[in-house]
Amino acid sequence: MNIGVLALQGAFIEHEKMLRRLGARPLQVRLPDDLLGLDGLIIPGGESTTIGKLAADYGLIEPLRQFARSTPTWGTCAGMIFLAKDIGNDRQPILGVMDIAVSRNAFGRQVDSFEAELPIRGLAGGPFHAVFIRAPIVTRTEADVETLAALEDGTIVAVQQRHLLATAFHPELTGDERLHAYFLGMVQRKIADAK
Ligand code: GLN
Repeated sequence: MNIGVLALQGAFIEHEKMLRRLGARPLQVRLPDDLLGLDGLIIPGGESTTIGKLAADYGLIEPLRQFARSTPTWGTCAGMIFLAKDIGNDRQPILGVMDIAVSRNAFGRQVDSFEAELPIRGLAGGPFHAVFIRAPIVTRTEADVETLAALEDGTIVAVQQRHLLATAFHPELTGDERLHAYFLGMVQRKIADAK
């Protein structure tokens, strides 16, 4: 499987390592042509305003939008913000392909980052050690968006809408490969459906 990793800014190298460990081929995406022939795409965490600005500068917004409309795409943290349709009053380039509303930096200054043991729907083997860094939260889900994980107070932090996956935390920063394997499963099913 050829999996693109948007490599404009943020934690893309860690995602590449995880993909390699699972036997997929990671390819860095910086220009529209880099999307050709990919079976899936990961948009990493980082700073969504920077990722959005660079994507706009490189003419990537519309090609990424087209890609994500039909091909499995997973956004983590800043990547989740980039996929969302509604990011409130912030003005920054986004893809707006996923029927979720998110709130950026939702845990506030006092709790910049934290870790939680998170049960995730569809992941066997116990809770996932989730690392949140200036993380967004999902404040609304619409249409056929499914909640995969929420914190104990009900705050939604992982969602899926058909071939689109979004997580507020950083699964590439722990050794746990299960979410990457889950995403590769989505990609595999999409390839099988297309045949
Ligand atoms: N706070 C960042 C943003 O708004 C996201 C942080 C992250 O990706 N770890 O884009």
